[in-house]
Amino acid sequence: MTKIPADPSFRIKSLPPEITSKLQKEVKGQVMVDSASRGRYATDASIYQQFPLAVLVPESAEDIEAGLAIAKESGIPVLARGGGTSQCGQTTGAALVIDNSKFFRNILSSDLADAEKATIEVEPGMVLDHLNTFLKPHGLWYPVDVSTGAQATIGGMAGNNSCGSRSIAYGNMVHNVLGIDAWLANGQLAHFGSYDGAVGEAKVLGDFVKGLVDHLKPEIEAHWPKVMRRVAGYNLDVFHPQSELPYTLDNSVNLSHLLVGSEGTLAFFKSLKLKLSRLPKHKVLGVVNFASFYKAMDSAQHIVRLGPTAVELVDRTMIDLSRNNPAFRKTIETALVDANAKTVDAILLVEFSGDEHAPLLQKLKELDTLMSDLGLPNSVVMLPDPAMQKNLWEVRKAGLNIMMSLKGDGKPVSFIEDCAVPLEHLANYTQALTEVFSKHGTRGTWYAHASVGTLHVRPILDMRRDGALKMRAIAEEASELVRKYKGAFSGEHGDGLCRGEWISWQFGPKITEALAQIKYQFDPSNLFNPGKIVNPPKMDDASYFRYSPSYTVIPVRPKLDWSAWNVQSNPVTEAITAAGSEGDPAQGLAKAIDMCNNNGHCRKFDADVMCPSYRITRNEKDLTRGRANTLRLAMSGQLVMNGNDVPPAHLPLATQAVKEVMDLCVSCKGCKRECPTGVDMAKMKIEFLAQYKERFGHTLRDRLVAHLPRYAPMISKVPGLPFLLNLRNHIPLLAKIQEWVTGISAKRSLPIWKSKHFWNQAPLPFMAAEELAKHDKRVVLFADTFNAYFENENLQSALSLLKKAGYAVHVAQPPKNQGEQKPFCCGRTYLAAGMVGEAKSRLSALINHLAPYAKGGIAIVGLEPSCLFTLRDEALSMGLGQSAQVVSEHAQLLEEFLAKELQAQRFAPTFKEATQPILLHGHCHQKAFAAVSPALELLKLIPNANPQLIESSCCGMAGSFGYEVEHIEASKQMAELSLLPTIRKHPNAWVVADGTSCRHQIADGTQRDAIHIVRVLEGHLDS
Ligand SMILES: Cc1cc2nc3c(=O)[nH]c(=O)nc-3n(C[C@H](O)[C@H](O)[C@H](O)COP(=O)(O)OP(=O)(O)OC[C@H]3O[C@@H](n4cnc5c(N)ncnc54)[C@H](O)[C@@H]3O)c2cc1C
Ligand code: SF4
Ligand code: SF4
Repeated sequence: MTKIPADPSFRIKSLPPEITSKLQKEVKGQVMVDSASRGRYATDASIYQQFPLAVLVPESAEDIEAGLAIAKESGIPVLARGGGTSQCGQTTGAALVIDNSKFFRNILSSDLADAEKATIEVEPGMVLDHLNTFLKPHGLWYPVDVSTGAQATIGGMAGNNSCGSRSIAYGNMVHNVLGIDAWLANGQLAHFGSYDGAVGEAKVLGDFVKGLVDHLKPEIEAHWPKVMRRVAGYNLDVFHPQSELPYTLDNSVNLSHLLVGSEGTLAFFKSLKLKLSRLPKHKVLGVVNFASFYKAMDSAQHIVRLGPTAVELVDRTMIDLSRNNPAFRKTIETALVDANAKTVDAILLVEFSGDEHAPLLQKLKELDTLMSDLGLPNSVVMLPDPAMQKNLWEVRKAGLNIMMSLKGDGKPVSFIEDCAVPLEHLANYTQALTEVFSKHGTRGTWYAHASVGTLHVRPILDMRRDGALKMRAIAEEASELVRKYKGAFSGEHGDGLCRGEWISWQFGPKITEALAQIKYQFDPSNLFNPGKIVNPPKMDDASYFRYSPSYTVIPVRPKLDWSAWNVQSNPVTEAITAAGSEGDPAQGLAKAIDMCNNNGHCRKFDADVMCPSYRITRNEKDLTRGRANTLRLAMSGQLVMNGNDVPPAHLPLATQAVKEVMDLCVSCKGCKRECPTGVDMAKMKIEFLAQYKERFGHTLRDRLVAHLPRYAPMISKVPGLPFLLNLRNHIPLLAKIQEWVTGISAKRSLPIWKSKHFWNQAPLPFMAAEELAKHDKRVVLFADTFNAYFENENLQSALSLLKKAGYAVHVAQPPKNQGEQKPFCCGRTYLAAGMVGEAKSRLSALINHLAPYAKGGIAIVGLEPSCLFTLRDEALSMGLGQSAQVVSEHAQLLEEFLAKELQAQRFAPTFKEATQPILLHGHCHQKAFAAVSPALELLKLIPNANPQLIESSCCGMAGSFGYEVEHIEASKQMAELSLLPTIRKHPNAWVVADGTSCRHQIADGTQRDAIHIVRVLEGHLDS
């Protein structure tokens, strides 16, 4: 038996200071040893957690080389990391974690001329979607289309032997890697490619593996699953092919395939040469509707004979979840034969692709005929239109994430999620496993790769209670089924901590021993990712769990109401207990934080918003996931604080470690909408600020910003004061002095004070709720502080537009008979400073005023998204009761209101022709509440306006963030990601933006005046 040296991390509990110093001296990249940084790298998308000894973010290959040399010399394990989206714990380890994803992500060379032979060589940190964006103009792509394509790195995909939805046509990673240059444990660089041409260390290692395989052929034949989706262990079958799809076109041996799927245990990849594929010119989709799940599973084996490029399952639960999700409802209904029918138990998405459209349409007809022959006539919805296909694929890709949004401690757990069985057994296998779940008091939702017999399923388990016991029992019963049907236990997501112990079960002792020998030959000191594939721990060893029965949460009384998360869900019915009923010591705050399951979806750069700070820094700490992990560690007492940073017991978030991660969070609420589990970091930032400021106090700048609604009314009352204050924008010395005193950047102009503002001009319409209710067309206008004092013309335009359109308007204001009172305020500026009590008192006055109108069914409209959506969002977390609820249900942006009125044919404007095309920038909160489409809808009514939405993340101004001296550069970088360059590309366009700070950022960055939509609409009304 090969004696693998013990996992070195058992000896080394923390990185000795001299090694840290050496690393810091010898590498240019960042070296992190503090507990918060290590904690952010302690998890992947699995249920496990292991603190690294240190984290290195290398800037170059030289940095990695130096890091590996120091690790070798000091006997420290090394763990390569990409996006950290693995589901089995293979990316967690007590090691020097080396994160390739920030810098080590370049294209090194390419040969794209001949599509049939096209190749590219990349560094391992390259993200799949970024590679495919580069390849698209060349008519090429890298076809291992994993669902996490926006996050997964090529190195991580190779490490896991990842597989995409279209693997039936293109294979897995192992089928699409041509060569790997990798550092070996001895520090040498070796090239792994064709075995025939191998030289040096690669040849020696290849010969060694071949020698083993030559003796093991009968064992391999007996134990190796004959399915394409087998990713467990090392790919010994390079020398004795077993896969349904050969690894190479000419059946030659490629030694890089030994490294594919090795989970960082054999070598550290320096570069990977990839085989590219031609991007098919056309795709069509046939959606087969089934009334029985069993029938769907049974049909897959017949459907694949038609030669599809994908056959993907979406089951009834997913269909229902999508139907109930406003973002997906319309799309899923297009896939159903009868959109209203509740009888569909499953759908299979069957895709055909190729260079000509007509033969693909023919394929759809063949699919229809086949289904008739199988007894299901008229069961296929044909979707030849690419846009509809794209939307449906988005629903399918979002599948797992939609399921993961379950509140409470019971969560869908990935541990048998990718067992693969031959297609002829798929129906019996899924039926039997469903019965196993039911026996253990849980259930799973099935989805994904029916074409290759790999269906994803995650039973709902509570790892803090009896989850581990059930996990073991279910895994054992599932393994019996996999054996019965001659399948593979690990068919997509790798082994890691979760499935390592099943390798010997799958392959038997002789092959297991061979794997150990290979590991020893490659890595005699067991330094590369120890404990994975060879000598793995038990899957249910609680010492590796992120949440175990001994997990504790520090008791706190949060400032906001988090009780909606303080619940449990029934694993079978998914019924949720009453809000606040489940005794979270942090009253729901900890459970809200725990909604982050580390899937890494926030590491994205697409047209959406999340997460602007990560987009500019690519730092894990500036990512929603990094923030959620830091908060979780703080709430569970896992952060080791230095002497000055120990927070009082009741304020566990009030530490520099948490401040550091929250610093660049611009509270854009991108995550609230786009994070699949709805992690709401903007709300968590308020909670953090409240605790932090309670401990350290508010700065002068905090007070200046927070109390703006309080002092704004006074300024105009002092003759000459607005003029004097505005001088700051014209006299640089004044701006500089203000910067020194307050920390407001001298490089920013400030909003201009006016002596005439909204509140001191002509009397504003005031109507009690009962009186207003008598009008057929009526509305309440909420005037926010920013528009009222700085851009009064927007509110005047709103009044004029509503009046012209025949609406009776009440402007929300204290009744005159109650003496001189301050105008109402939503409390946003107070929330931004963590002054929750003050915000609550201001909001409460506003809500008391608005509630009678809302209860009368009257819409409450506003112009400033961040203020208006405070009524819809934060107001519900402040314990303001039923009134807050009813007001939130009626609060809407002016354009949301008008778009609804338009649909109801109560608003029927005629607009003059526009003289300029329009570019629309959506405020982040407007995007978070899906309130951009109504704006577009209205602008489209203006002839010749041709409104285009700017595909941008946050503008970067984010309230006061962009004015702050320490944040102005980050703010500008966010704006330069897409917003400002797009505006510059359209010099003749009118720029429309609802947000006061967005307009400010646009003016500062492009010297163009953006305007509020209400002025465009009112200005074009044909009166
Ligand atoms: C919601 C969700 C959906 C998913 N869908 C799919 C899917 O459709 N198909 C699929 O196959 N997987 C899927 N996965 C799993 C995961 O996303 C993929 O395996 C992905 O390819 C991992 O990429 P990564 O960059 O995050 O790798 P990481 O998790 O960072 O690393 C993966 C492994 O590769 C090793 N590694 C990384 N870089 C190197 C290097 N330079 N040298 C040597 N070893 C290295 C690591 O040590 C680790 O063992 C999904 C995960 C989630 C959370
Ligand atoms: S914050 Fe949301 S998107 Fe990001 S890793 Fe956590 S769950 Fe995923
Ligand atoms: S609120 Fe915005 S900046 Fe903050 S974590 Fe969420 S997406 Fe990122």
